[in-house]
Amino acid sequence: MECENMPKCSLLNMAPPNREVGLAQQGFIRLYCRGGMKEKCVRRTVARSLGDPARVPPNMMPNGLPISGTDDSNWPSEVKILAIRRFRI
Ligand code: SF4
Repeated sequence: MECENMPKCSLLNMAPPNREVGLAQQGFIRLYCRGGMKEKCVRRTVARSLGDPARVPPNMMPNGLPISGTDDSNWPSEVKILAIRRFRI
């Protein structure tokens, strides 16, 4: 079953800055959003804590780390803490 966050998830709505990121984005959608790994998606867990999938930074991968070539310097501290906690569990 597809992830219920798909209509509002900022990762899916992000315009990829290059081909590499676009391919990664498509892979995430196939594995996590439409595949069987949504239960392991850190973005989904963070979205639940924040109360809105649109508030999760678009450059956060499903494993909670920034997409290659980007960083978390613009992420609110609350988001960083939530992502790190989930990543370590
Ligand atoms: S990236 Fe995660 S939260 Fe977003 S739609 Fe896919 S599975 Fe759901």
